Amino acid sequence: MDDTKRTEIAELGEFGLIDRICAPFEPQQKTTVKGCGDDAAVLDAGDRYGLVSTDLMLEGVHFDLTYFPLQHLGYKAVVVAVSDILAMNGTPRQVLVSLGISSRFSVEMIDRFYEGVRAACSDFKTDLVGGDTSASVNGLTISVTATGDVDKDKIAYRSGAGANDLICLTGDLGAAYMGLHLLEREKRACDGHPNPEPKFEGYEYILRRQLKPDARVDVVEKLAQSGIVPTSMIDISDGLSSELLHLCKASDKGARIYLNRLPIAKQTYAMADELHSDPVVAALNGGDDYELLFTVPLARRQEVFALGVDVIGHMTEAGTGAALVTPDGQEIALQAQGWK
Ligand code: ADP
Ligand code: MG
Repeated sequence: MDDTKRTEIAELGEFGLIDRICAPFEPQQKTTVKGCGDDAAVLDAGDRYGLVSTDLMLEGVHFDLTYFPLQHLGYKAVVVAVSDILAMNGTPRQVLVSLGISSRFSVEMIDRFYEGVRAACSDFKTDLVGGDTSASVNGLTISVTATGDVDKDKIAYRSGAGANDLICLTGDLGAAYMGLHLLEREKRACDGHPNPEPKFEGYEYILRRQLKPDARVDVVEKLAQSGIVPTSMIDISDGLSSELLHLCKASDKGARIYLNRLPIAKQTYAMADELHSDPVVAALNGGDDYELLFTVPLARRQEVFALGVDVIGHMTEAGTGAALVTPDGQEIALQAQGWK
């Protein structure tokens, strides 16, 4: 290796870096069905596929404890991991939670964090089965690994979307991002006040979406009841644009989504209005939504409407790009996110 060469990570970006890490690793185990590149790794477990996925959350990068209650943080850490199992159309089973803890944290604070972990384990019927605990120099580091499984013929990769498949989306977008902006604004407003009184009235929904998101176990159950296996699926952690581009790339297809079909909640519009920002940008690039984005064949459209999810567009042939279509027919190319 040339020790004198230095390439900035920003040159590759998050996804380029991941590709570079994974490329030299050839699978050596017959049970490795799918390694890097989807929401969870897929392992052959005999009758079914086993699923495993891990997520890292760092204080100062992913959360700010000035306004993020520890119970909620514990809950959210589990949601983030479980959501990747659901994105494979899987059933979550276990979680392992590892912590790096600085001396700033007391036993009672760790108790509060695990109250949240326990609430999430109860809501998503998962078992905490392990983890690791270490001292850290500063701040809190959280790593959560989730396992799950899925029938072999029900698995949904990012890669199976067909050219005219409908693009379906659960819930609404951009609310968690606007909730974050509200929390940041009130943090600045309260800074230095002896008795801070943050103003959150009327914004309970967007706060909840940021502080206590949901993992859409209900949607995966409903899909199973209706006998629909999505041709591709991903969860929205980094924003709709980025995730739809992942589906397009993995499936080698294009996509068209329609601006007037994007589900955006009233409070998201109201907050964006107050902050003079664009709610559509929040919906496309905000992230932290943990909703499911999936594709189904056009022929299943009646059943999809019965699921209560939004159809926001359709896939297109390879090479046609991914774009947002405005009501007057203009096409705006979607941009990938990922950190630099
Ligand atoms: P998600 O947002 O669904 O959690 P990520 O964007 O974090 O997915 O990761 C995308 C894919 O890249 C996953 O398959 C993940 O396992 C893999 N990946 C991410 N970071 C690394 C790494 N450091 N080493 C190996 N694989 C990685
Ligand atoms: Mg994911």
